[in-house]
Amino acid sequence: MIRLTKRVFTDLAIYMIGFGIVIGICFPVFLSLLGVSTELTYAPWFFAICIAAGILVGLVNILLAHNVVGKRIGLLVDKMSYISNHLGKDRHEDIVRDCKPGECLIEVDSSDVLGESARSYNNLVTSLFASIKSELMVREFTSMLTLRLELEDLAQAALPALFEATSTEAGAVIMEKEGDLVLVASHRIANTDRLMDGDIVREAVKSRKRAIIDVPADLVIESALVDFTPRAVWVEPLLYHDVALGVIILASASPISNEAVHFADLVNASLAVAFSNALTYDKLQQLAANDSLTGMFNRRFGMARLQEEYGRALRSGSPVGVCIFDLDHFKRVNDTYGHPTGDKVLVHVAKILRGALREGDIALRYGGEEFMAVLPGASVTDCYEIAERVRRLVAETTFQHGSNAVSLTISGGAAAWPDFDASSADALVRRADEALYKAKEGGRNRIIAY
Ligand code: GH3
Ligand code: MG
Ligand code: MG
Repeated sequence: MIRLTKRVFTDLAIYMIGFGIVIGICFPVFLSLLGVSTELTYAPWFFAICIAAGILVGLVNILLAHNVVGKRIGLLVDKMSYISNHLGKDRHEDIVRDCKPGECLIEVDSSDVLGESARSYNNLVTSLFASIKSELMVREFTSMLTLRLELEDLAQAALPALFEATSTEAGAVIMEKEGDLVLVASHRIANTDRLMDGDIVREAVKSRKRAIIDVPADLVIESALVDFTPRAVWVEPLLYHDVALGVIILASASPISNEAVHFADLVNASLAVAFSNALTYDKLQQLAANDSLTGMFNRRFGMARLQEEYGRALRSGSPVGVCIFDLDHFKRVNDTYGHPTGDKVLVHVAKILRGALREGDIALRYGGEEFMAVLPGASVTDCYEIAERVRRLVAETTFQHGSNAVSLTISGGAAAWPDFDASSADALVRRADEALYKAKEGGRNRIIAY
């Protein structure tokens, strides 16, 4: 069609009215050919009526076209502008999340080109929204990852976010730490020991390959893995520069969708970076808090923990005890057997001390051959008993290093709040130190608690 103006409907109107006029002109001629009297057909008023009727038909046609076609195209335009206006705004995620089908999609009610255009528009909007939703999910997920530095904290937050994004229900985060596989977080795993002992985790770390195992619907397994019947188990190794840092296991009661796999592809790298950072942070924390020889808390970190425990004791009114130990004549051990043997003995004594303590007690290397135990909830009598146990164990042990068999003793001083009304954690430590001094003065290999 030759374009006359810049408006399609105006062109259409001109063509329709023009065509009406042509029909109006041709109609009388046609009538006369059929034998109708030329007096009537060629009368100017008859011509005028036929042309007017032609114009009227043209007008009615254009009106119908406007109403039937124009309205549908208008609706398409309205929906498109509605969406493009919202997408241009800052919080365009609202429309993607909240838009109801009636608001953003068009009802397809014809099987012609107009119906086809509505269907194509709906498909376009649906895939656009799906793509924006997936982008939003990835963005939310990665920003959640950047907020967490501590390994456990990160794993605890990553698991539910992964469940939501991949439509899975259960899972675990397992990381490799100093050569061992350690369970960092888990949700709805029925038997974590069995999971850790099984081949599934070790295989994934070794192969560094994703595995999605479909469990056939008719196969009812006595599942030790999860507390429901899984239809799919997903093993995702966390690769950082091709090194497997650990594995994420996900389990689902339904098959894993392509969207879920696509999401995992998008976030896998950020997930590995976040876990690598958390592992580094974990190591740094340990370096900052631990003594490199014995692995116990170092003096600075241990004393800070004592301050915390002392404050907690004051607030709760429950006692807190402090024991300080010092190896007897340790200089002689070094002089007789050498420094490396002395070091080994220190490591052994640290192990004995740790083994004698309860969960929640704090052990630290207080000085060269001095150790401290902070015992929340312990009275001075409790402290004495625990310290005495340590003393006895050290005295009964022969430390073997190479061909050297070393026997030695340890002295200890203990004090506890509120048995001793210490005004501060430092005052409590001073009191325990005084007791230790008395133990040394009294002949060593003894505990003084007061
Ligand atoms: P006392 O019974 O009076 O405590 O005698 P002692 O010899 O244990 O006490 P002293 O303070 O005179 O000496 C402590 C020794 O501990 C000195 C040092 O050689 C040794 N020592 C301190 N730190 C280390 C360490 O990290 N490794 C080794 N092998 N020895 C250490
Ligand atoms: Mg000493
Ligand atoms: Mg000593």
